[in-house]
Amino acid sequence: MPFDLWLKDLPDNTSRHVRIDLDALHARPFSFLSSDHVVYQIERLSDHLGSKPLLIRQAAISYSLYIRQLDAIQEQEKSLRRVCALSCQRPPVGCCNGEHHTILSLSDVLLARPTQNSLHLAHVLTALQSLEHTHALDQGRAVRPGYCSHLTATGCTLRLFKSPRCIHYLCPQVELAMTAAHGDHAAAFLAAMHDIGNCTIHTMQDFTSPEVIRTATVLFAQAKPLNRQ
Ligand code: SF4
Ligand code: SF4
Repeated sequence: MPFDLWLKDLPDNTSRHVRIDLDALHARPFSFLSSDHVVYQIERLSDHLGSKPLLIRQAAISYSLYIRQLDAIQEQEKSLRRVCALSCQRPPVGCCNGEHHTILSLSDVLLARPTQNSLHLAHVLTALQSLEHTHALDQGRAVRPGYCSHLTATGCTLRLFKSPRCIHYLCPQVELAMTAAHGDHAAAFLAAMHDIGNCTIHTMQDFTSPEVIRTATVLFAQAKPLNRQ
C-alpha cells in the first residue's frame, strides 16, 4: 500500500507544531528519500501527534522516516527481495512466524529496563502500528491465520511502523545472498543491521541506527546511483 494513502487518512489533531517539526527534522539528510516525501510525512505525523510532548513526537516521526529509509534500501537491494520472494528456506511464511511486530520485546522490558522516554515512545509507536494495521485491513487486506497477526496474503500490514526487530532482521540466507552480490562491500551494512537488531532497547537511541543508514549509503553508492523514493 502506498505510504501517502495512510498518511492522508490519519486523524488530524493540530498543525500547531508542524513548522517546528519540519525545521528540526527536515534539516537532517535522508539519502534514500525524496524531499517531498519527507516533508509530507513530517507534516502529517506532526499534525496527528500534535498533543504529544515534543521529544516523543519528534522521536516517533524520526522513527517512521528511518523505517521508510530502510524500506527503500530493502526495495533497492534486489538480492534480498529475490531470496525472500523466490527461495526462502523457511516456508510457508519465512520469518513472519510469530508476533515480531511488538515494539519492545520481553527481554527489552525485563532486562534492559527502558527509560521512561523509551517506554513512552514504544507506547506511541504501538498506537501508530495499530492505526496502520487497521487501515490496511480497511483497504481489504485479510490476515493470514496462524502466523504473525500482521501478516496477510499479500504481506505485512505495516510499512512505516514495523518494529525494530522486524525491520533489522536479515536471516543467514539473505546475508549470504548480499555477500555474493556485493562482496566485502556488504559486510559493514550487514554488521550494522546485526548489531542494532540484536541490541536490547534501553534508551530512545536504541530504536534506530545511524550506522545502518551510513553503511547502506556507502554500499549503494559503490553499486549505482541512489534511487530516491
Ligand atoms: S529474511 Fe530469510 S527467513 Fe525471512 S522471508 Fe527472507 S529469506 Fe525467508
Ligand atoms: S510485523 Fe510484519 S514483518 Fe514483522 S513478523 Fe509480522 S508480518 Fe512479518
